[in-house]
Amino acid sequence: MPDPHHTPALEQQRDRIRSQLASIGDLRPGPLREKFMRCGKPTCRCQHEQDPGHGPYFVLDCQTGGRKTTRSIPADRVAETRAQVEECQRLRRLTSELIEVSEQLCDTRLAEDKTATGKKNSRQRVRRRHPS
Ligand SMILES: [Zn+2]
Repeated sequence: MPDPHHTPALEQQRDRIRSQLASIGDLRPGPLREKFMRCGKPTCRCQHEQDPGHGPYFVLDCQTGGRKTTRSIPADRVAETRAQVEECQRLRRLTSELIEVSEQLCDTRLAEDKTATGKKNSRQRVRRRHPS
């Protein structure tokens, strides 16, 4: 093992990401989209070109069992669903950060192995022989 004091900053960063990962909540990949609709009634205000239409209605893209579907989200669940979508983005961000930091950490250890000289390192390389 290399001297752990060469990599404390990276290890701290890794541990910080790990503890954030432990707090991940409910996840939805999403995205959550807003939709406006025209009802088709000739007397309705939505028939005017300047009118955005009825809405917004919220539609969530889902991948259920590998199949792409959409789900309409009731207004009172929009905030919750938005949080789930954001949580999923947070997870992806944390995951790629963790992979990056972990790779740096592994690289650093590898470099320490190669550049380390002196008694300490050679002593580490000696394998103990256990009597069989
Ligand atoms: Zn209308």
